[in-house]
Amino acid sequence: MRLSRYFLPILKENPADAQIVSHRLMLRAGMIKQASAGIYSWLPMGFKVLRKLENIVHEEQACAGHIPMLMPTLQPADLWRKSGRYDAYGPEMLRITDRHDREMLYGPTNEEMITDMVANFVGSYKSLPLTLYHIQWKFRDEVRPRFGVMRGREFLMKDGYNFDLTKEDALHAYNRHLVTYLRTYERMGLQAIPMRADSGPIGGDYTHEFLVLADTGESEVFYDSEITDLKFGDRAIDFEDKAACQSVLEEFTSRYARTDETHDETAFHEVPEERRRVARGIEVGQIFYFGTEYSEKMGAMVQGEDGQRVPLHMGSHGIGVSRLLGAIIEASHDDKGIIWPEGVTPYNCGIVNLKQGDEEADGACDALYDSLTALGLEPLYDDRKERAGGKFATMDLIGLPWRITVGPRGLKNGVVEVTSRRTGESEEMTPELAIAKIAAIYAGL
Ligand code: ATP
Ligand code: MG
Repeated sequence: MRLSRYFLPILKENPADAQIVSHRLMLRAGMIKQASAGIYSWLPMGFKVLRKLENIVHEEQACAGHIPMLMPTLQPADLWRKSGRYDAYGPEMLRITDRHDREMLYGPTNEEMITDMVANFVGSYKSLPLTLYHIQWKFRDEVRPRFGVMRGREFLMKDGYNFDLTKEDALHAYNRHLVTYLRTYERMGLQAIPMRADSGPIGGDYTHEFLVLADTGESEVFYDSEITDLKFGDRAIDFEDKAACQSVLEEFTSRYARTDETHDETAFHEVPEERRRVARGIEVGQIFYFGTEYSEKMGAMVQGEDGQRVPLHMGSHGIGVSRLLGAIIEASHDDKGIIWPEGVTPYNCGIVNLKQGDEEADGACDALYDSLTALGLEPLYDDRKERAGGKFATMDLIGLPWRITVGPRGLKNGVVEVTSRRTGESEEMTPELAIAKIAAIYAGL
């Protein structure tokens, strides 16, 4: 992409109403524009990152054999009357009446709709196990929408639902989701710690929330510092292997890590004092196993091997896709702007032309741009007739992890400059080596 032809409405001043750094930076870097409280337009740069996060989620769900689909945002109220949640949900639910006076709602989540669908189509244990998911906009009329996309009213969520014949199979689905979530967040450059949480109105005994540690997080969390040393990394995992998934769950949940809702001071004190941490965290996902409650209410029954009709064991699993943008920026920025992890960066590198209009500099930039593009990479070329200082400030603000700087002086010696956004370190090299370096960085991602 050439910046002169892009739509990147950068703000020079800090927006007064943005209280936390991710909100400020998303507005300043031209990623989002508020439409009304807690509702945002995703401008091209924000939209690009959002799509990258979605892709990572899809790829990791596919590895575990979970099946993507898409349910609508608007749902009939009657579905929610069946589960008993229509009245229970309260003012967070946006209720809508259509022209025929039918009661509708903008879905805050999809347990009812998917369970009804499975009740319709699945009649035998032979169709199980089954995990379906979608990535769809949700609406919750939050009392206090704030912090930009972190607590929006309209927000994008991946929500998945497993349907199993037995509790044992459903707990395997639970463990499988824990593994996919660990891998998903790590690919996004985040450490999200699974913490024992409160199941809230959904009910059930098993639930973990995934929290990214950040001072601006809304949850208070208590954990054993050893947990921050754990990494899933690039180890291989067979998602069909129940014991393997169970052992990952044990590895990542055996140490003390809880949100304030489940915190137990006595149990916490069994952790050696020097390892006890009290901090704040951003909830970026949650997994649940809740048994057969919904299935019974919504009639999701199957014929088991013995011919008896039994209700399905269910769980649901959510990732806050749009909130993740804010969480990643909270975890990765400096006073100049965003620092995107390579796995989610909107563009792989920036190209800064120090002397736009200079034949040689323009030609070298065009050649770099074409070569990188031919390798399947996406550079963002700042080809505007602007001062070098302004171009650097823009690149630092939008946070591409690598910058290639091209100017007549370097070109005289046959070199360009490659700079890391994270460390600020620069290296001179030939354009060919610069291309090879950038290509190598992204090769495994
Ligand atoms: P919270 O406690 O933050 O209100 P929740 O527990 O009600 O969230 P879930 O029903 O678990 O949310 O939804 C799954 C994920 O969706 C959450 O982990 C979070 O990342 C995201 N999410 C929930 N509410 C919002 C919101 N208002 N804005 C953006 N993302 C949200
Ligand atoms: Mg939650």
